[in-house]
Amino acid sequence: MEIIHVSAECYPMAKAGGLGDVVGALPKYQNKAGQIAKVVMPMHRTKFLYENKWDVDFKGYLHVAGQYYNFTIIKEATQKLGFDLYLVDINGLLDRDKIYGYDDDSYRYLAFQIAVLNWLSAWEHRPSIIHCHDHHSGLIPFMIKNCFDYRKLQSIPTILTIHNAQYQGWMGWDKSYWIPAYDNWKTGELDWNNTINPLASAIKCAWKVTTVSWSYLNELKYNSNGLEALFEYEKGKCVGILNGIDNDVWNPQTDIYLKTHYGIDDVTEGKAMNKQSLCKQFGLNEQVPLIIFIGRLVGEKAADILPETIKVILHGMKDAVAFLIVGSGDTAVEWQLSTMNNLYPGYYRAVIGYNEALSHEMYAGGDFLLMPSRVEPCGLNQMYAMRYGTVPMVRSTGGLQDTVIDMGDPDGFGIRFNHASIHDIYYSVSRAVEVYKDADHMLSMRKYMMQINHSWDKTVDEYTAVYQSVL
Ligand code: ADP
Repeated sequence: MEIIHVSAECYPMAKAGGLGDVVGALPKYQNKAGQIAKVVMPMHRTKFLYENKWDVDFKGYLHVAGQYYNFTIIKEATQKLGFDLYLVDINGLLDRDKIYGYDDDSYRYLAFQIAVLNWLSAWEHRPSIIHCHDHHSGLIPFMIKNCFDYRKLQSIPTILTIHNAQYQGWMGWDKSYWIPAYDNWKTGELDWNNTINPLASAIKCAWKVTTVSWSYLNELKYNSNGLEALFEYEKGKCVGILNGIDNDVWNPQTDIYLKTHYGIDDVTEGKAMNKQSLCKQFGLNEQVPLIIFIGRLVGEKAADILPETIKVILHGMKDAVAFLIVGSGDTAVEWQLSTMNNLYPGYYRAVIGYNEALSHEMYAGGDFLLMPSRVEPCGLNQMYAMRYGTVPMVRSTGGLQDTVIDMGDPDGFGIRFNHASIHDIYYSVSRAVEVYKDADHMLSMRKYMMQINHSWDKTVDEYTAVYQSVL
């Protein structure tokens, strides 16, 4: 079985969040399981691009909105990722520093998708499956089904995985001429609420749709940024598959970003050493429980309530707990969090920005990981935290409620709460402070979490079953 993953992100080439982690790991584990999995993505200008060797695989041209572009597809030369990685270079459109956030993103990502289909059309054989991820590749199922240029790809099943339904790639109908000529009778398959909606279109046109946790699949029927009725209507072809994690990358015994490695047997000492170095780096008191937050500073992650919540906690539980944050996102939240940096010496630090190395050090050195997310399709942070023996403190939603059991329940190892509110987080932190005093309880939770297997090895079969159902 040959699977082509089409995505905007793929770790380690380019990552803004969980999508990058998933697309950088799933294909590797699919290859290990005997399939042929490949990834194609835009050629963003990242460090990985410049530090690695590439072969030219294909040269072609495409047109969007009456403009002609040459494009080149390059392939990672050494196979060191465990899968073939192809990058699409469209001069001036895709070769930019950031993955997203440009005014012409709709245009850029449409050009990317057209390039991918032109490339696949030139192949002598057909891949078994085209696996699209989120709205950036959401027009592919429609184009394969309905565009005259891609008739010969029509028999290839398309799968859509929804990592985040909040972002849908909306385009006004005045842009419809950007899409290669298609059967006019099928216009409705592009539309949702009078706009071209690439995510909605993919839900309609893909042969199967998967979401990244079971609970998220359920939630989408009543909370999906306007697509609720569509999810209800298409529920027959939707499947929830919990994300896995890449145990090779996320392993406290071998993690390339850690100075002190540790495993289940020496977790107490290992975490203490990592905590010490982290606290030293940020001037934090290492005697108190260290609560970490790693993530995008956006409403979905409830980052907006963090500043006030932390202030209330650091006043109410003075000198009892410390916070370390790394994240970027909404400017107002970034500003609030960084202006607090001088207010609580020894007990609070926020690092604004994206820092892969620091995030690994934090999973290893933190005692508790806070995730008050309002929406969390799967959430990988809590699974990384568990693997590093860090107790997850999460709101009961989406993938968080599928993976974390409260320490009050049998076999529990985490802290769960219901509302993204100051009160719920305050109460959860006070539970953390209490349990932290009980070294035996902490150790047993750490050991229990660290042996839970969230590896992709387990999950690959579930994707294979989805592919087989359409082949
Ligand atoms: P989402 O995809 O919604 O952002 P996930 O929990 O699925 O959330 O994945 C987040 C991934 O991004 C994790 O690997 C996390 O460690 C990483 N991450 C998020 N923000 C940062 C940051 N500022 N610095 C380093 N890593 C980050």
